[in-house]
Amino acid sequence: MLSSKHTYIDKSITIAKGKDSCLLAGAVMVYKDKEIYATTSKTLEEDDPTAHAAVVAIRKTRAQQHVFLLNDYELYLSEKPCPMCLTAIEQAHIKKIYYLEYNKIKYMELSRNVLLNAFSLREFNAKKT
Ligand SMILES: [Zn+2]
Repeated sequence: MLSSKHTYIDKSITIAKGKDSCLLAGAVMVYKDKEIYATTSKTLEEDDPTAHAAVVAIRKTRAQQHVFLLNDYELYLSEKPCPMCLTAIEQAHIKKIYYLEYNKIKYMELSRNVLLNAFSLREFNAKKT
């Protein structure tokens, strides 16, 4: 029997593949093991380059649930989040994310330290010459 984590990841992939673009990613927001909101990225639909699936899921969940921060929510993504999404997830106080990478479900617990490591100064300094 598949765990609920597999179910949510599968849903994020299914909705991403349901559209006719390879640019789409899927996101499923979960609260207390209940699906709250599921979406694909909407960059073309909303004519907004920042409307990645994770960002859309955060915006819509907040509006729908009338909450400011998403402390006890979990986010399931069809792919590894980009730097913008990772930062948005941390700013929304989502602590746990699951995403698919190389056909394996990866888990990340977010904190300010994780973010700082993800965007270490070395990467930025390496480009300066
Ligand atoms: Zn993104």
